[in-house]
Formats: sequence, structure tokens, C-alpha cells
Amino acid sequence: MINPWSSASLDYEKLTRQFGIKPFTELLGELENPHLLMSRGIIFGHRDYGRIIKALREKKDFAVVSGMMPSGNMHIGHKMIVDQLIWYQKNGADIYIPIADMESYSARGIDFESSRKLAITEYITNYLALGLDFKASNVRVYLQSKNRTVQDLAYELAKKVNFNEMKAIYGFNGSTNIAHLYVPLIQVADILHPQLEEFGGPKATVVPVGPDQDPHIRLTRDIADRFKSTYDFVAPSSTYHRFITGLTGGKMSSSQPKTAIFLSDTPEDAEKKVMTGKTGGRESLKIQKELGGQPEECVIYEMLLYHLLENDEKLQEIHDNCKNGTMMCGECKSMTRDMIRVFFEKFSKKREKAAKIADKVLVEY
Ligand code: SF4
Repeated sequence: MINPWSSASLDYEKLTRQFGIKPFTELLGELENPHLLMSRGIIFGHRDYGRIIKALREKKDFAVVSGMMPSGNMHIGHKMIVDQLIWYQKNGADIYIPIADMESYSARGIDFESSRKLAITEYITNYLALGLDFKASNVRVYLQSKNRTVQDLAYELAKKVNFNEMKAIYGFNGSTNIAHLYVPLIQVADILHPQLEEFGGPKATVVPVGPDQDPHIRLTRDIADRFKSTYDFVAPSSTYHRFITGLTGGKMSSSQPKTAIFLSDTPEDAEKKVMTGKTGGRESLKIQKELGGQPEECVIYEMLLYHLLENDEKLQEIHDNCKNGTMMCGECKSMTRDMIRVFFEKFSKKREKAAKIADKVLVEY
């Protein structure tokens, strides 16, 4: 199956219309303190996010579910998810973080112990270092393989899903192993289980994802509906964020190190990598002074937009100076290099501290 959202260069507006995802901008005015990823349009779409706004406004219980797949190293693009979780945590959500070790095992052949170790040494360590407070009572991070509640719910939900449906959504065929076939149901249960009575009953739930996950969100929403009379599930809401561009111009990917700045990189490595980033500069300084640069096609600008520069006015100034040809790429890259060095100098110290406590946060069900 070809997932239309998995390509490196996407027409987000067109795909959004095609799949019935609503533009996030229509809700921005209703949020008191939207996250920068929201106000800057990086989170571009949603399904039923009005429920989350209502819960925020009325200070009602709501949940956020965001899984981590223990395979490969986290790159700077993954920071986006953690930033959102921190925002939700500050805004009173219950945070559920399933570690997808069952999927790693069935789809990628990674054994459970390796998944557990990688989740702790890489993912939980980074989440902690980025600022998610695992000591707070509203965060639960668990291994799917150890969560009997999720496994039991998945089995029950599987009764109302058939093979043709799974084939159409995930492209499974006759040679797909049965464990892999079953894993999407575990993920559906990950998303719906915060609504079981033991976790406070039915409630609005949001899943922040990249748009390539939308087929899975739609399946989860359908299944929630099929079990409405049993559990009174509220169909989960979702938000969709843009993918950060890789240093070479395609998608940033952990499996292609030249495209990515990893959160485990040293400040020196991160600096060097930024300097290799593809810019939206022109063929010569002369042409750039005449025509201006193209920040919308620039990896350096994206780094500032997504991660490095919180000040909107300063960002606008860089954008404008690029567009009107008064700022050249050399100067802009050097400034970004300095910012990334400062970020990584602080972050690597936080990572060292986080690594010492990361193995203590897993929740046993
Ligand atoms: Fe990118 Fe900066 Fe060059 Fe503009 S001036 S294209 S934002 S590196």
C-alpha cells in the first residue's frame, strides 16, 4: 500500500482536503496559549480537536497518548512530539506513553529486552532531558508487552475487525506474520485504554502524530464507535504536524545519518552538521541580493522555526531580511550554528543527568 503522506515533499493543504483533516488555523483563536508549533502552522491539521479545547477551557480530564518506537536514535525532528507533551502536561492532561516493543518485535525483529534498553537509554533519557516531568502523577510510560490491560482490550477489540480491513489499511498480505497483523490492535488499545473505568472512564483523548499515521487514527476512531455501547468511548481526536526537512533536503530520517541531527550528538557534531544544511540561497550572492532568498525551502530556517528561536519578532525579521536579500546565507548559518551549539551544550548536560534516572520511570501495570 502506498501511503500518500510518506513522501518527502508534501502538499499538506491538498492532502488535508483529500482526507478530510481540518485546518488547525481555524481553532487557533480558541486556544488561550497555543504552543509555538501551533501558532507557527507546524501543527497544521486536526480531527475533532474542539473536544480538547472544550476540556482545556472547562478544566475537565483529558488524555494525550503518544507512543515511542524503540528503534534507532532520536533526531531533532522527534523533539516536536516531546515539546507537545510538555505543553499538554502543563495544561493538565494525563499523558500516556506506550513503548511499542510489541511492534518492534513483530515488524522489525527487535527482541523485548533490546527494546526495553533502547527505550530507557535513548527515548526516556531524551524525554526527561527535554523537560517532560515523569515524577508527576499524570504521566504513565509503559511497555506494551508488560501491559495486560492493553493486551486484554486489544483482544476484545479485535473481535470487530477483519482481515480485509487490515489488508486495506496496512497493506498486509498472505506472508505477513500473525504477530505483526495483531499489533495495530494493540496500538488501538493504547489509545483507547485511558477511557476504561479504572483510568477515570470516557474522556476526550488526543493523539499528536505525523500525517502518515492518519489511517491508523481513522481505524481507532471507527473501532471506538463500534464499541460505543460497551465502553461509551469518545472517538479520539488527533493533530497532525509537518515533518522537519532533513539536512540534505529530503525527509529527516534516523536510518540516514547524513540527513539528521541526533539528540545524542555532541555540540561540535551538531554545529558541523548545521553547516552542511541545504539552504534556500541563490546561485550567487549577486542574485540573492537582487531576488532575495527562499526561507520556505531552507533547512536552516526550519531549524529556527521549529526549534531554536522562540521569539516571533526575531524570526520574522530573519524571514524578511532573507526575502529582501539583505541577509546572506553565510551570516544566517553562522548565527544558527551558534544557537545550536548553545542548545546542545545545555542539552548534553541534561542528558547526562537524565541517563542516571531514566530506568526508574517505567510504570508496571
Ligand atoms: Fe536560509 Fe538564511 Fe539563506 Fe534565507 S538567508 S535562505 S533563511 S540560510
